[in-house]
Amino acid sequence: MFYSQLLMLKDAFPEEFLDRADQYFESLSSEARKNISISRMAVHLNCSYEKSADFLAACVKTGFLKKYFVLCCPECGHIIKKIASVGDIKNIEYCVRCDEEVSKDDFDRTQDIEVRFEIVENAPFVEGQHRFDLSRSRESADAVRPDSLQYAWDHGVVELEDFYAPATDCVDELLERANTIDSRHYDTNTERGKFLEQLMVDIFNQCTCFSATGDFRTELNQIDGFVAVKRCFKGSFLDEIGSYFYMECKNENGTPQNGYISKLSEIMSRNGCSFGVFVSKKPTPDTFQQICHELFLWHKQVIICIATQEIVELLSNNDNFIGFLQRKYIEVCTNATSNLRDLHVLGG
Ligand SMILES: [Zn+2]
Repeated sequence: MFYSQLLMLKDAFPEEFLDRADQYFESLSSEARKNISISRMAVHLNCSYEKSADFLAACVKTGFLKKYFVLCCPECGHIIKKIASVGDIKNIEYCVRCDEEVSKDDFDRTQDIEVRFEIVENAPFVEGQHRFDLSRSRESADAVRPDSLQYAWDHGVVELEDFYAPATDCVDELLERANTIDSRHYDTNTERGKFLEQLMVDIFNQCTCFSATGDFRTELNQIDGFVAVKRCFKGSFLDEIGSYFYMECKNENGTPQNGYISKLSEIMSRNGCSFGVFVSKKPTPDTFQQICHELFLWHKQVIICIATQEIVELLSNNDNFIGFLQRKYIEVCTNATSNLRDLHVLGG
């Protein structure tokens, strides 16, 4: 066997299958070894997409392969570039094959972000490779394509924390903004509020499973932050928080008052929303945890509280934001007195 690392999988996959996989990997050019996909693997191994996805996921777990994301042209499927997060998608992208500009809104992140694998050999990525399925068209957009982020999530190839993987310079930029919350001068209260609100919206938008905006109004209320959970990503924590949630931001010097939580809870009740995020410059008082826990017990609403100092720490430590949200969620439901991060259960 050329890639003897595959032998680690011999309890999970038949020997004959591993042999074929080994021959396939060996036959690839050095460039192609960095651009392995679920669909191509399935064709070459003459197996289902599902089996191909299972096998590639297993290879990632053993460290033989590593996965990454690419952005594809919504019209022709050509790989536009490698991306680390949604934040890497510019307002206007360019497809060399169509010779057309593509605006950010035209990308469907569940389908046009695809998952690729490379054999771990520390070689740099070369952009502009063609994908396998050249016949793809808009008409087939309803079917989940086997290389898409959606398919990869449905088949366990990506994990919850993979939805947040921002580029380093992006984290640096967010951290720089977070660090100035205390010291900067705000001309008006609106500007003060907007600054924190926009920072949080931008952090949520670093996650491929979320789409956030600061401008959302209903007949009754104005919401500081509205976050949609991408419809197709379901399972685990994403099921629990529902298809959308609200965020309330208080960029004030004082300690937040209990009334803020009841107000957010009331808005959530009126709007069929079961998850809320409360962000404040000063940490919330200890009473908040009890209030939030009771809202969970009596109203099945979960409101998590985040202080800006926690955002600074999260960004400085390069912690995973989704792991962080999930940890906060569990802390409210259980009224936890232990920190699941310190116990090495969750990464955020
Ligand atoms: Zn194109």
